Amino acid sequence: MSGKGGLPRRDVIAPLRFNRDLPGTRLLFAPGAVLELRSQLDSLGLHRAFVVSTGGRAAALAPPQELLGDSLIEVYSAAREHVPVAVVAKALARFRAVGADVCVAVGGGSAIGLGKAIVKESGTPLVAVPTTYSGSEMTSIWGQTDGNGKQTGRDRMVKPRLVIYDAALTFGLPADISAASGMNAMAHAVESMYAANATRETLEIAEEAVRLLAHSLPSVVARGTDLEARSTVFAGAHLAGRALDEAAMGLHHRICHVLGGTFALSHALTHAVVLPHVVAFNSSSAPQAMTRLARALGSDDVAAGLVALNRSIGVTATLSALGLRERDLDRAADEVTVTPYPNPRPASRDDVRAILLAAL
Ligand code: NAD
Repeated sequence: MSGKGGLPRRDVIAPLRFNRDLPGTRLLFAPGAVLELRSQLDSLGLHRAFVVSTGGRAAALAPPQELLGDSLIEVYSAAREHVPVAVVAKALARFRAVGADVCVAVGGGSAIGLGKAIVKESGTPLVAVPTTYSGSEMTSIWGQTDGNGKQTGRDRMVKPRLVIYDAALTFGLPADISAASGMNAMAHAVESMYAANATRETLEIAEEAVRLLAHSLPSVVARGTDLEARSTVFAGAHLAGRALDEAAMGLHHRICHVLGGTFALSHALTHAVVLPHVVAFNSSSAPQAMTRLARALGSDDVAAGLVALNRSIGVTATLSALGLRERDLDRAADEVTVTPYPNPRPASRDDVRAILLAAL
C-alpha cells in the first residue's frame, strides 16, 4: 500500500500480547491480562489495594472485588478530568485512613491522574490498568487543577510500577471517545518528534506510534470490538506515552493545558482539534520531524494528513463546539505565551491567538 504522496507503508501488525520489564515498570500486554492483577500485586508484596476510577462502564468492565478479592481495601470512583485538587484531597484522606499499600488506577487518564496525585503524596506504588489511549500510564508526568489553572510536573515517584494493558477492556470505549483519545496519543508522538531533547530511540518509538495509530484508529472507530485494531491502537498509545515521557512537549501541549485547565475544555478532544493547526504552524521549522511524520501518516502534507485522519474517525468538532468563546482568545493566548513550552518555532501572542482563532 502506498500513501497519498506515494510513500511506502508497511503492513501493520502489532503484537497481541507481550510482557516486558522496562526500567521501574513491569508491563503486561494481552487480552485477558487484567485477570492477573491480583497475582501480580502479590508478587510485588502488595496486599492492600485502593482502587481509583471514574466509575461507570470503565469500572464495570474490571470489577475490583472479583479481580482482587480480600486484597481490595476500597474503591474510590470519583476521579475527574484534569485532576481537581479538591478530589485529590478527599481521595488521599481515604487512602491514608484505610492504610492502603498500593493505589490501582483502572480507567483513562483521569483515573491514572488521580492515582498519580495520591502516590506523589503517599509514597506508595501505583499500578495502572489503562482503558483509554491517554498514555499517562507510561509517564512520570503529573497534573492537577486548581483556581489558578493546571499545574504539571515530572516526578519519578508517580510512574506506575506495573501496567496491565488488556485490550478487551476497551471494547466498550465509545467510538467518539476512542477517536479523541487516539488523537491525544497521536499528539504525544507528534510533539516528541520535534522536541529538542528527542533521541534516536524516542524518534523511532514515536514514528511507530504514529504509524500504528493512523493505521488502526479508523478500524477501532468502525468496529469497537475488533481485537486486532484495539490492540494495535493500544500499542500505539503505549509507545506514544513512552515518547511523551522521554521528550519535552511543545506549543500544542501548552495550548491544550491552558484550554483544559483554565477553560475546562475536554482534554482528548481539544488535542484532536488543535493538533493539525499547531503542526501547520511548526512544519517549516521542523523539517526532519515532518519527513518522519509524513512517512508514518502516508501523507506528504502532515497537517492535511491529520485533518483527513480526524475526518475519517468522525472528529469534526471545533474549539467553539467544545465551549471556547471568541472573547476567551486573548486571555488564552496570554496564558500560553506567559509560560511557554519549548517549541521549534517561537510563537508570539498574536501567533497563538491566530492558531486558536483558526481552530475556533
Ligand atoms: P478520561 O479518563 O476522563 O475518560 C474519558 C471517559 O471515558 C470517562 O467518562 C471514562 O469513565 C470513560 N471510559 C474510560 N475508559 C472506558 C472504557 N474502557 N469503556 C467505557 N468508558 C470508558 O479521559 P482521558 O482522555 O483518558 O484522560 C484525560 C485526563 O488524562 C486529563 O486529565 C489529562 O490531563 C490526563 N492525561 C495525563 C497524561 C500524563 O502523562 N500525565 C497524559 C494524557 C492525559
